[in-house]
Amino acid sequence: MMSGLVWYRRDLRTIDCAPLALACKNNDRVDACFLVSAGQWRRHGLGPNHVEYMRRSLASLADQLAELNIQLHVKLVDTYLDAPKAIHELARDLACTNVHWGREHEVDEVARDKAVRNLLSESGLQVHEHDDQVVVPPGSVRTGSDTGYKVFTPYRKAWLPAARDHVAGSMHERPEPMRQPPPPPAELPEVIPEFEGFVPMDAWPVGEVEASKTMKRFVRERGSDYGRDRDIPSVHGTSRLGAALAVGALSPRTCVAMGWRHAERHPEAAEGLNVWISELAWRDFYKNVVHEFPHVCRNRAFKPETEQVAWRDDEASFKAWCEGRTGYPIVDSAMRCLVATGWMHNRLRMVTSQFLSKHLLIDWRRGEAFFARHLIDMDFASNNGGWQWSSSTGTDAAPYFRVFNPTTQGRRFDPDGAFIRSWIPELSDLPAREIHEPSKMTGGLWNPSTYPQPIVDQSAGRTRAIKAFADTRNAGE
Ligand SMILES: Cc1cc2nc3c(=O)[nH]c(=O)nc-3n(C[C@H](O)[C@H](O)[C@H](O)COP(=O)(O)OP(=O)(O)OC[C@H]3O[C@@H](n4cnc5c(N)ncnc54)[C@H](O)[C@@H]3O)c2cc1C
Repeated sequence: MMSGLVWYRRDLRTIDCAPLALACKNNDRVDACFLVSAGQWRRHGLGPNHVEYMRRSLASLADQLAELNIQLHVKLVDTYLDAPKAIHELARDLACTNVHWGREHEVDEVARDKAVRNLLSESGLQVHEHDDQVVVPPGSVRTGSDTGYKVFTPYRKAWLPAARDHVAGSMHERPEPMRQPPPPPAELPEVIPEFEGFVPMDAWPVGEVEASKTMKRFVRERGSDYGRDRDIPSVHGTSRLGAALAVGALSPRTCVAMGWRHAERHPEAAEGLNVWISELAWRDFYKNVVHEFPHVCRNRAFKPETEQVAWRDDEASFKAWCEGRTGYPIVDSAMRCLVATGWMHNRLRMVTSQFLSKHLLIDWRRGEAFFARHLIDMDFASNNGGWQWSSSTGTDAAPYFRVFNPTTQGRRFDPDGAFIRSWIPELSDLPAREIHEPSKMTGGLWNPSTYPQPIVDQSAGRTRAIKAFADTRNAGE
């Protein structure tokens, strides 16, 4: 009798899940498992919002697997060092002959998998690894000179035909129920110790059924307007599927397939949906960066020369940024939204990250860590890639002297101040023409003492950042 074990990680689903599909196809009996690695997550700087979302997604996965008569075994370990023993013991206790999992691409995960693979192979178990986190497997599209892509636009050009092939050829149906007895209820932790204190989560689709409904609704109802609405934080114009994609409750191939199918049937929606699919290509791009340039996983800048930037040590400004008290309304509203909800709009992630790394000249790694602790959709590759893009240490093709002006960004993307007003009660009565620069108001009834003065002059901050980057470049010449 062939008996398989599916080791779930960031692929918490049954639909289009290669490890599950192939384990079910090739075995008479299948079990599934997940390792809660709280010590490792702590070392990786994950916060309670993302971990709680993962825990809830796991509960939903256990129900889905039970419909297929498959038991989900959840084991508590500390760090990845404990993974080989835990998986080996479970496989032995369940008399498994083979183990399936979906590849992860960050260095610690790659090292963990190598150690597990070695131990299982030594014990005579077969290991099957699948590429399931992305549309196009990292490393499979490369430049003409056989190097990893460093810039998004040419990557995307190579990605598109490869994505068509993968969507057409690599997707997997949800398996039929196994012919094995229904499992007992899964034993899941009620809460994961040290990750208590999360934000309310009702707004987020948990589990693959809800994520799939949200995706279909988005594609049908908002996909056509995505190109127009995706930059306006006060409008619900994006899919908000990041968290589901981050834990793998939704397959990115399914998203792309659904987007293309809908665009074919509704050509008027094609433009918006193609922009959305490009964003999913960004997600693949950053996973590819992690695979091709693993030094980014070790807290290093993608562009090594930018390691020399003289970041400022300014605790008070960092605290003001974290707490939404910089005196720049678009920055402060975004930071308050992040802390209260665990989510921030993409445009605002760009504005706030540039503000910290450029205007305040504070090391991007501090901002990256703060986002990692708060984001419900935390994903190492996208978070690191986004931060390095903003701080000109990463893959951005634009030069370091492109610095977003936070006031102009606010006027452009929140023209009537609706988003700012919803997060900064101190400014809620201000008219649109004054809300972006309350420090410039003279007279009137408004009392400036209720909202901070700007902690940095935007023009002086910009000049200081450009000089710091130029000094680094000159020193390297
Ligand atoms: C500083 C910074 C930090 C970021 N941190 C994360 C993070 O931890 N996790 C994360 O998933 N995204 C991150 N992003 C990318 C992006 O902001 C979010 O993916 C997006 O805001 C999520 O909202 P949504 O699900 O409505 O996305 P949509 O606009 O509907 O896009 C669909 C999906 O495409 C992917 N995507 C969209 N934009 C990007 C992008 N620029 N880079 C990579 N993938 C993208 C996401 O999986 C997203 O859910 C970050 C961006 C910046 C600038």
